[in-house]
Amino acid sequence: MTWIINLRDLLRMNKPIVIDDQLELNEASKLRQELLHADPLRVNLTASAKLGTVEVEGEGQAALDMQCSRCLGTFKFELRFPILERFRLQQDESELTEEDDIHLVDTDQVDLRPFVEESFWLALPFVYVCREDCQGLCQACGTNLNERDCGCTQDNIDPRLAALQDFFKKE
Ligand SMILES: [Zn+2]
Ligand SMILES: [Zn+2]
Repeated sequence: MTWIINLRDLLRMNKPIVIDDQLELNEASKLRQELLHADPLRVNLTASAKLGTVEVEGEGQAALDMQCSRCLGTFKFELRFPILERFRLQQDESELTEEDDIHLVDTDQVDLRPFVEESFWLALPFVYVCREDCQGLCQACGTNLNERDCGCTQDNIDPRLAALQDFFKKE
């Protein structure tokens, strides 16, 4: 199994190829602190030629150990993400028009791994909570409010939401 496709072969033979493989993420936790661990991505792709363009389409799945942004507890999260990339050989100068969603490449071989990784990072949500109604930690004493009520007086406003409300007041 290989992650490298040959554009020229695909375009010439017009026979789709399927890639069904696992991909280990590079240094996942260095990019996103909240991502504590990622199992290898499970990826299924089909590469096919369409009118001079090679289209790579499919889906990835990732089992992740995340840290909740509110209560700092860990939880498991299953992320599914779509993958769609288009490649075209940059054969002569006249074809240099840079179309937004088509990668113009000047070599026959394309390694799909970086594109799969990028699709994963783009699909990963920016805020991770263990559950939608996670109460987070008490701002005063640090108690996990999902587990018990510490009794500190506090309004129930998430500090980030409070900051947003202030922001809108200024408008
Ligand atoms: Zn939480
Ligand atoms: Zn408290």
